[in-house]
Amino acid sequence: MTMGDITRETVLRAIEECDDLGVEGFRAKYGFGPARQYVLVHEAEQYDSKAILNVAHLYATGVLGGFSGGKDHAAARLRELGFVVVARGPQPAADLDVLRSMPLLEQIRRMRTHKTGTTPTRHKPLALLWAIGLAPTPDTRLNAWPDFRDGVGPLLRDFGHDHNKSTPENPFWYLASGPFWEVTGITSSDGQVPAAGRLTAVSRDSVAGVSAGFTEEAVKVLADEVRRAEIVAHLLTTYFPERDHARLLAATHVRTEDEGAATDEDEQDEPVTLDVPGSNEEDRAVSKTIRATTRYDRDSGIVRDLKLLYDNTCQICGTTLRGRAGKRGSDGAHFRPLAEGGPDSLTNLLCLCANHHRELDLHGIYVGSDNVVYITDSFEIEGELTFHSEHRINADHARYHRARCHVDTHPDVEPPPEAGSNPASA
Ligand SMILES: [Zn+2]
Repeated sequence: MTMGDITRETVLRAIEECDDLGVEGFRAKYGFGPARQYVLVHEAEQYDSKAILNVAHLYATGVLGGFSGGKDHAAARLRELGFVVVARGPQPAADLDVLRSMPLLEQIRRMRTHKTGTTPTRHKPLALLWAIGLAPTPDTRLNAWPDFRDGVGPLLRDFGHDHNKSTPENPFWYLASGPFWEVTGITSSDGQVPAAGRLTAVSRDSVAGVSAGFTEEAVKVLADEVRRAEIVAHLLTTYFPERDHARLLAATHVRTEDEGAATDEDEQDEPVTLDVPGSNEEDRAVSKTIRATTRYDRDSGIVRDLKLLYDNTCQICGTTLRGRAGKRGSDGAHFRPLAEGGPDSLTNLLCLCANHHRELDLHGIYVGSDNVVYITDSFEIEGELTFHSEHRINADHARYHRARCHVDTHPDVEPPPEAGSNPASA
């Protein structure tokens, strides 16, 4: 078995078969996993370089190849044959899978930064704030290198340490040592950060371009105002303890309060951020401040679906919030807050009016196992949930919320000091 048997024609036949079967079907047929690092780019489509090369060997010789996907193997031969092969990003660290299973805030807490003496450099945190300020969506999360350079470079000059160099190529590349960042479109033979000149050259020439940004998973988390504010707070308190946070937030376009978002004062007493695993007092305090001064008005897709399902009608009282020109409004209310590990899924959500949402968040009302809504302090009935046929709630999430109201138990919620009566689970 040698790679010399493989020709450009047999590679094109393998690509054609992959187009027919779809990437998943192609992998499944020949028993390959996803390409870890090297991707073959052909006519603007991406293919697993290793799988394509080995199937091309099958076409050439009748035997499926057993070549590895490393840069010295599949990628090198494909390039010899005139194909474009690009890397997904830097070599992942060994513990990336462990990190990946953690909440985004924790992943970012564990982010490694270079240090000057004991002071961490600000390249990565500034790049993250810049990327958060763009309010990334799954479609807009990747930023072309020239945009990143022109956005992050000035921030490094204005907010970096005096002794740090302004080198945006560093965070562009090295952030991908965390599981929340992705670099596409460039290889580096030694895993080292590509020089700015090379990034610029590849950006100009490469079929795929070279870009970087948050992963899709991270973008989903960042769409949630609470989690996002906690992450911003962590970055500010950890890396910019003495700087003017308002100025930094303005420079990174992490949006600040506007007249339409007159957040109520008691928002700052809202306990929803208090139980984040691993967060510290300082982060929490800043997080609350940011929540009170930052406007996030984008719902997740799931919340939008929910509101559509109910036509913005409260599941408890049936009212809807009136807007201008016939527009209607409602809230997506999570039983188990996202900040406490709750999923952004329909089974963890109710469509509520603003008042009932607020009361649910304040634990003033709870939903019993009978879907009746009770007033926490009096156990009086507030109403009964109306359900659309396509919507169910997960009993465990509702129970989690009841445990927060101290009227039920849940393994994730510590029982109150004095265990009282327990009508919800009766
Ligand atoms: Zn209501």
